Amino acid sequence: MLPPHSLLPSRMLIRSLLVAGITSHPMLLAPGLSILNFLSQPRGPLFNIERNPILHTILKSLLYNHFCAGENASEVKATIQNIKSMGFRGVILTYAKETSGKTSNERVLSNDESQSVDAEIMAWHQGVLQTVKMIGDGDFLALKLTGAGEAVTTALSLAKPLPKQMENALLDICDEAISRHVNVFLDAEQHHVQPGIDKVALYLMRRYNRGGVAVVFNTYQGYLKSTPRIILDHLHNAREEQFVIGIKLVRGAYMSTEPRHLIHDTKEETDISYDSIAEGLIQGQYANWTQDEAFSSPKLELFLATHNRPSTIKAQKLQNFRMHAQLPLIRIQYGQLLGMADEVSLTLLQLNKEDTSGKPFAATEVYKCLTWGTLNDCIFYLLRRANENKDAVTRTLAEYKALKREALRRMTNIFSS
Ligand SMILES: Cc1cc2nc3c(=O)[nH]c(=O)nc-3n(C[C@H](O)[C@H](O)[C@H](O)COP(=O)(O)OP(=O)(O)OC[C@H]3O[C@@H](n4cnc5c(N)ncnc54)[C@H](O)[C@@H]3O)c2cc1C
Repeated sequence: MLPPHSLLPSRMLIRSLLVAGITSHPMLLAPGLSILNFLSQPRGPLFNIERNPILHTILKSLLYNHFCAGENASEVKATIQNIKSMGFRGVILTYAKETSGKTSNERVLSNDESQSVDAEIMAWHQGVLQTVKMIGDGDFLALKLTGAGEAVTTALSLAKPLPKQMENALLDICDEAISRHVNVFLDAEQHHVQPGIDKVALYLMRRYNRGGVAVVFNTYQGYLKSTPRIILDHLHNAREEQFVIGIKLVRGAYMSTEPRHLIHDTKEETDISYDSIAEGLIQGQYANWTQDEAFSSPKLELFLATHNRPSTIKAQKLQNFRMHAQLPLIRIQYGQLLGMADEVSLTLLQLNKEDTSGKPFAATEVYKCLTWGTLNDCIFYLLRRANENKDAVTRTLAEYKALKREALRRMTNIFSS
């Protein structure tokens, strides 16, 4: 059996090797991060990434192309084609440009203003429509609701109804997604806006997840102590109101800014919470539900968005076990960010090629999550990815070693043939 990285085209392998070489080396990563930080601030023509063509080319060919999908529709479509040709089921696409996300009490509460056109919502709506038009059958569109600006963020943080313009924009986007056979993720954000996002997600799931499949998925953060209870509430809603519940499970990305007491005390506790939520959902025995209740549990689809290899392998093993035992199955899909955790994505893809000696096996559906936008739009996204690699040193180093082994294997093959 060939190693998972054998699935990478040579160009991607070389670029990944370069990026992993820098990000797995603290002596190289620290100055790299400082340079990126410096370039992310508005600068004169010499250090402006959009105006200095040499700087633009270097950043684009090394960092941007590794982590981002493209600056326009034709670049994005080429990246998607490339990803799908490697065996991925599809992509999750998101638009990098974000508005302030600040809150302001006066703005959302003013009736007059709710009648007028909000420029931030309009810009977000247009950006998202442009995004959904770049994807198709089986892909996902990821929506970050606070990206629609102050009025929306304030409504979400007060768990008030969204401005009518935003509600219409969401319905328009979901209709367009459905017409293209695209599914929709509502991303999870900070805890102060999350109850508002949950309300919007339930409203959309109730409306669109009626035909026996999940079109809209809500995101649940395993690091929050409150998540198992919230999932249980939403499962009850889905069962009572007879809609399919789409659950995207993540660990959570806002640890540095959230009140610490809301989050599990240790990484191990977050890991246990994440895995036990996934296991409970796969087995139809969530929380304290009895086996009887599990039989009437709502139809659900699970999307495991994680770079954690043990979590993905455990879920897929359980799915395989249930398939062999002819137990009821739910649909499980997996996703990782472009340019990150390729070892996890490619190992999952390879499970589809394993020799199972004639036994039935549960096929894995794996996605890469892509962000698109100009280099300038994506600079903060790139900074976050570089920082995340710094925090996941062990994984980055393991990825670098695996890439080196694969490069060596290919060179040996060339010289020995
Ligand atoms: C496709 C995709 C979509 C995503 N969408 C979202 C989204 O909508 N909203 C969102 O919030 N995040 C999202 N994320 C990010 C995700 O929440 C994680 O931050 C990131 O994936 C790292 O976690 P991991 O599961 O990959 O595994 P790991 O790298 O094994 O876990 C790291 C995570 O563990 C948790 N953790 C770390 N240290 C501690 C500690 N001391 N105590 C308690 N917990 C700790 C944190 O959540 C940290 O991010 C997404 C990730 C992917 C791949």
